[in-house]
Amino acid sequence: MLELDRVSVSYGEIAALREVSLTVNKGEIVTLIGGNGAGKTTVLKSISGLLSPSMGDIRFEGRSIRGLSPDRIVALGIAQVPEGRQVFPQLSVENNLLVGAYLIRDRAGMRDTLDRVYTMFPVLKERRRQLGETLSGGEQQMLALGRAIMSRPRLMLLDEPSLGLAPRVVEEVAKAIIAFRRAGMTMLLVEQNARVAFALSERGYVLETGRVVLADDCASLRRNPRIMQSYLGGNSAVEESRRALH
Ligand code: ATP
Repeated sequence: MLELDRVSVSYGEIAALREVSLTVNKGEIVTLIGGNGAGKTTVLKSISGLLSPSMGDIRFEGRSIRGLSPDRIVALGIAQVPEGRQVFPQLSVENNLLVGAYLIRDRAGMRDTLDRVYTMFPVLKERRRQLGETLSGGEQQMLALGRAIMSRPRLMLLDEPSLGLAPRVVEEVAKAIIAFRRAGMTMLLVEQNARVAFALSERGYVLETGRVVLADDCASLRRNPRIMQSYLGGNSAVEESRRALH
């Protein structure tokens, strides 16, 4: 469904991605894992048209999308859930959701999609008149996921959905991702937390300083001690330091 073929991206003189190749098949959740600054967000921004690769090609459902505008890419069926959720603080929850549907002309269809989002996340329905800024971190993540669904994507790009959330809330977000998967959604998931990522996905790519250094199924990546040590993720790292102190 999605194919990156030797994609390179630079920020001026800084090479952020070097010949990154990866594929996501229809119905899969694929994880892209890597430390700070490895280039994970840059991969997602290149797919969603926010950055243009200097080399290589990006294909979605068989056609090249390299160089298309972000609007065009959303219209083709790719939605990005950005890192840090980026909820509009002064808009109501419902208006935040409607922003996600700005390219949808069919109003009846939009209502149906909104109802689907509210069924998936009842807390958003309860709080639909509240301002975005009044939501907790977990609720804002639900809102960001719901907003992406509003554009009726076939592929979702999720940038660190577990970042900064308490373990209980991470579990809720993980359940939502599993529900999307069951509904037939295809996802490329960026994570620093290997436990979360490998629990959700079937295949993973490990990115280090802009290069793919390993690609395997998640069962094998989970058995790889070097990977698990490097990417245990924030929550577990904190838990372990805490245990070491006592
Ligand atoms: P994080 O987990 O910290 O978000 P990441 O894996 O998503 O990291 P990117 O944000 O893709 O990494 O960044 C990849 C590299 O590109 C880093 O070295 C970063 O410093 C650099 N970079 C990112 N954005 C810019 C920018 N706007 N200008 C210059 N360099 C940038």
